[in-house]
Amino acid sequence: MVRTRIAPSPTGKDVHVGSIATGLMNFAWAKKNNGQFVIRIEDTDRTRLVEGGETKMLATLADLGLKADESPLMGGPFAPYRQSERLPIYKKYAEELIAKGKAYYCTCTPERLDEMRKSQQAAKQISKYDRHCFTRQDEIEKEIEQGAKHVVRLLMPQEDIVFTDILRGKITINGSQLDDQVLLKSDGFPTYHLAVVVDDHLMEITHIIRGEEWLPSTPKHVVLYRALGWDLPQYIHVSLLRNPDKSKLSKRKNPVWASDYLGQGILKEALLNYLALMGWSHPEGKDIFSLDEYVQLFDIKDILTTAPVFDPVKLEWMNGEYIRALSVDELFQKIAAFYQEKQLDSVLIQKTVPLIQERIKKLSDYYPLCQFFFEEPTGYEIDLKKYKSVLSTVAESVSTISDWKAIAIGEAMQKVATDQGIKNSEFFQMLRIAITGKKISPPLNESMEILGKEECMRRIQKVR
Ligand code: GLU
Repeated sequence: MVRTRIAPSPTGKDVHVGSIATGLMNFAWAKKNNGQFVIRIEDTDRTRLVEGGETKMLATLADLGLKADESPLMGGPFAPYRQSERLPIYKKYAEELIAKGKAYYCTCTPERLDEMRKSQQAAKQISKYDRHCFTRQDEIEKEIEQGAKHVVRLLMPQEDIVFTDILRGKITINGSQLDDQVLLKSDGFPTYHLAVVVDDHLMEITHIIRGEEWLPSTPKHVVLYRALGWDLPQYIHVSLLRNPDKSKLSKRKNPVWASDYLGQGILKEALLNYLALMGWSHPEGKDIFSLDEYVQLFDIKDILTTAPVFDPVKLEWMNGEYIRALSVDELFQKIAAFYQEKQLDSVLIQKTVPLIQERIKKLSDYYPLCQFFFEEPTGYEIDLKKYKSVLSTVAESVSTISDWKAIAIGEAMQKVATDQGIKNSEFFQMLRIAITGKKISPPLNESMEILGKEECMRRIQKVR
């Protein structure tokens, strides 16, 4: 039985796009193999918790369609799925490791550790715990009985640690280079390393697909699995997302939270589709495909090891493709929902959607393009003073149009332009600005039809 997981930490306002990318791979691998996909919340770093982060993250993942079989919300046979609710379990395994001689108590104060680090730095040595407490465990037990603050440290074996990553092959790290990692902190919370190993084992996770930033931690995890007598899961460390300039994706250059993109009116299907291409490509080279198709086709062995570039411009392009594939009514529903707070006239939205479906890349492009339908322009991108007399002729002509339809409007306006001897481009630019305030707008004749004869008249009179 294949069981995969993602184990996000609620340290941001929503789920990170990189977590969605690895989430997709874990989800697909589980589903493709009729296995299970687990979401576990790793909230043991209490100093970095963001309030509301977990709720938002779980809601976004569900909304995107990465439905977990087991999670803090769904529960499941290995509950609880939130690490802060599993503290006694970690304590039990920390004690088991001590009993087996694989870990030890340490009561060193932060001040002592600081001094130790400084002198190691001065002597140009690797910075790692000097095992001061390991050599005096009898004393330590007494100190602890008397209430001394203490942590539990892993006794890192001073030998080669060997494991396999499916994408990267055999990896060997010498344990003497590694620190005696803290496993249990003085506040009783486990560190990531202990908690992740205990949970992945107890939750029977078979494949761990995660970002390469965790690769340096893996030897420590391997030591823990072996110390506890457990089988290793399959490891798959995937390349991290990059900005188009190849730097690591960071908040400073681009938004990294799902809600930043969904909040601009990127459709969730497009976001998922784009993120599915981060580290994987469709066997037929297709850009656009559904989550179901991805699940059927995905295979761990096809994961690309080159660093995927997360380019918001490409994402917008893809979103535009998704927008164009919607029916007019579907797009209307999405735009209406997106602008719910503005309480726009929904009949008007419905009428304008066919005019802009080809022109917008994200839902948030709608209002800037269509604002003039809902309120008259407050500014004009070009000064219309010199067109006053032409605009009077336009007004006269408009007043005579009886069949207020785009075609008739277009014909009448063309006639004014010809009669007045003004170049078409100049004439229609002037008219567009009089009606919409802007140089760029949806098709003008159709827009005028939707606005209605009276409203167009009013706008022309106003600038005349
Ligand atoms: N809690 C880690 C994170 O925030 C999980 C790393 C892992 O998948 O092991 O990404």
